Amino acid sequence: MERSMDRNEAIALLKGLVEIPSLSHEERAASAWLVEQMRAAGYDRAYVDGAGNAVGEMGPAGAETTIMLLGHIDTVPGAIPVRIEETPAGPVLYGRGSVDAKGPLATATAAVARVGAAWAAEQNVRLVVVGAVEEEAANSKGARFIRDRFDGRTEPIPNACIIGEPSGWQRVTLGYKGRVLVEIDASQPMAHTAGPNEGVATVAVDFWNWLAALAQVHNSGIDKTFDQLSPSLRRLQTFTDEQIQDHVIAQAGIRLPLGFDVTDFAQTIGAWAAARCNLDWDGAPYPAPTPEQPAVFTLAGPLTSIAVKLGAYEPAWRGDRNNALVRSFLGAVRTVDAAAKPGFVVKSGTSDMNVVGPAWQCPILAYGPGDSSLDHTPNEHVHLAEYWRAVQVLEAALRGLCSAIFLLFTGWAYAASAAGHRSTICTVPSTSDVPWRRGSADRRRWRASTRRSHAPHDSASASPRRWPCHTPPPSPHCGCSRRAAAF
Ligand SMILES: [Zn+2]
Repeated sequence: MERSMDRNEAIALLKGLVEIPSLSHEERAASAWLVEQMRAAGYDRAYVDGAGNAVGEMGPAGAETTIMLLGHIDTVPGAIPVRIEETPAGPVLYGRGSVDAKGPLATATAAVARVGAAWAAEQNVRLVVVGAVEEEAANSKGARFIRDRFDGRTEPIPNACIIGEPSGWQRVTLGYKGRVLVEIDASQPMAHTAGPNEGVATVAVDFWNWLAALAQVHNSGIDKTFDQLSPSLRRLQTFTDEQIQDHVIAQAGIRLPLGFDVTDFAQTIGAWAAARCNLDWDGAPYPAPTPEQPAVFTLAGPLTSIAVKLGAYEPAWRGDRNNALVRSFLGAVRTVDAAAKPGFVVKSGTSDMNVVGPAWQCPILAYGPGDSSLDHTPNEHVHLAEYWRAVQVLEAALRGLCSAIFLLFTGWAYAASAAGHRSTICTVPSTSDVPWRRGSADRRRWRASTRRSHAPHDSASASPRRWPCHTPPPSPHCGCSRRAAAF
């Protein structure tokens, strides 16, 4: 008989993980320690992978269903003394990473330990917990490694994915905005400040004014931050180089809404830079960035040259809210506390959801205890009561999700289908504990259908916008009736 991880052990797991510093690129000790804890907690397999990620697996390696729990083990800098303080609201753990995102990672590790190897084997489900490296380094090395490993050839594409980021124990995060960093380096020959030209620094001023106006046009009539184009000025610097050229560097970060067309944006900023350099734009396309590859181009005018760099690009991503994954969480929150009010949230930052969401196109959400407004702050802390609730919610959600998957393969789904409602997983209740039916053709169909489902589209933001953001037409793979067409 397996012994389930209890509250004290789960708290020790979190505190131990927070106590090991793990800045981006320096995660080795924390990954090794977490793998040890996973082994001790009864995981079937636990190892540090080729990227340095801590990976723990529960359930058969060749299981029909794979559920990915993708957290990150790295933190931003800032040493906060690790301690548990008693407060009127109960004990609170302080420490860097307690919220972002060792709290959610420990939650996943503990919840899967509580689900246990025997139950996972019985359900023929493989639960994969990942503490990914370098999420905070804006390159998401660990998540990209996992994305490429679970590519449908080397390893199956997960049937569902839970990102480990703070959402608060009662809520789930459905989406994250995208991001692109824009840097211009403008230069012109050094000139006397009493001379006729205005100085190269004015290019940076013009750039920012142009970008702010662009965002204003895009955002007119859009109230929700999630749907807005949100630029921020990150850096301004002037200097003179050895070739006696005056330079100004301006860097802006832009938080991107769903459907933002980065290729279109590259053309527009190219056209702006050409005009600012007094060059005629010949209409040739400017290179656009991808999540893997920045785009760089230079325009040399008679007086002013501008080098443009577009980097750190991630598209926005939002998961579908109408599926068994989301429903299992809502049900689990109510199971843990009948008075709770489960809810949804979308975030203006990015996470590893932006990396794996577009590749896997599976039901996806982010979950974890903690108040995300404490991310990266010197006051980062988590209430241990909330942490323990989140462990219980996640455990119940995983059990409910597996049961929902089972129900899909009973005659119930087909009865519903015959009655005219052609949805499949979207209408399946999540509260049965019927044992898993092994090897059925129905389950294989479900796997195939969920892989194609849930490309993001959103009716609320689907109204056509002027450049530069246009929401693509609804995906043919999103929505119950369309998904059922695979059956
Ligand atoms: Zn995070």
